[in-house]
Amino acid sequence: MLIVMDAHATPEHVERVCAEIRDLGYAPHPMPGPTRTAIGVTGNEGAIVQTSRISALPGVLEVIRITKPYKLVSRDFKEADTVVSVGNVEIGGPGVVVIAGPCTVESREQLFSTARDVIAHGATVVRGGAYKPRTSPYSFHGLGEEALHYLAEVREQLGTPVITEVMDKATLPLVEQHADILQIGARNMQNYPLLKAVGRSHRPVLLKRGFAATVKDLLLAAEYVVAEGNKQVVLCERGIRTFDDHSRFTLDLGAIPVLKSMTHLPVIVDPSHASGYADRIIPMARAAIAAGADGLIVEVHPNPAFAVCDGEQSLVPERFAQMMQQVERVAAAIDRPLVGRTPLVTGV
Ligand code: PEP
Ligand code: MN
Repeated sequence: MLIVMDAHATPEHVERVCAEIRDLGYAPHPMPGPTRTAIGVTGNEGAIVQTSRISALPGVLEVIRITKPYKLVSRDFKEADTVVSVGNVEIGGPGVVVIAGPCTVESREQLFSTARDVIAHGATVVRGGAYKPRTSPYSFHGLGEEALHYLAEVREQLGTPVITEVMDKATLPLVEQHADILQIGARNMQNYPLLKAVGRSHRPVLLKRGFAATVKDLLLAAEYVVAEGNKQVVLCERGIRTFDDHSRFTLDLGAIPVLKSMTHLPVIVDPSHASGYADRIIPMARAAIAAGADGLIVEVHPNPAFAVCDGEQSLVPERFAQMMQQVERVAAAIDRPLVGRTPLVTGV
């Protein structure tokens, strides 16, 4: 249920409605807007029958029934786009944001060299895995805490926020301490205790779509995070499993406009894990931005042939520079600047 307050409703009116909702055994979520406040209600399993108790309260304009199973993340609850702030970078605003870096942190040198290159070409957030969810138990699983220290050093010395994956509740406090965004990987998209734990974090969350998850499953997973209080969630389309095996996964570009209409949360795309091969990343990155994505997360490695993880899908820095130039032009065509790059001079 969504309660829309009238434009003259006072904070006391809003609190009175919230108290009534709590009294009915549900949870109120006040969402102040530019002209009026809306109050979302969660915690009910079926339809709320006592709507007249609420609609009679002073300051209430309208009581709307929401039939979708996800509520807080839906556009029905909040029409305006959510802008997620990470340091001085805004994801989901007018600009397109590019996150880049190695699949996994292999050494301090490898991370710093990649970070310097991607920042020089316009990336505004640096990625790097510290804890890696590998398909085989015998593969390299990341440097763990050592990598977290290198990531924090990148943030301090290069002034760029960093993102890394958190795989379990046990390491969450450590990851939270060192990273600016908490990444929930595709394999953990439906790890509900983990979703609830990051929902109580003060750090923004990047939630990747599970490779067998529908758009609705993704929105419901995001709802778990937001329902715990953390509204700073970015969604990531990273490819799903289909019958076709021409690429590592099938990048579901059609999900981008669908998500953008269903939710107010920012949506970014990972063309690296979706494609699995470096030569497909630039076309898919261009297409993702053309389809309306708010940003990209891309794997870059100084020497992909020697990468311990995902080398075949990593761009070398020179190719990353080309990708940035092309993506900037595609973004300009739909009137979006690339965050962190001097705007293109057009018409000359
Ligand atoms: C990653 O981005 O490091 C990763 C493992 O991706 P995904 O969870 O999408 O497979
Ligand atoms: Mn990877």
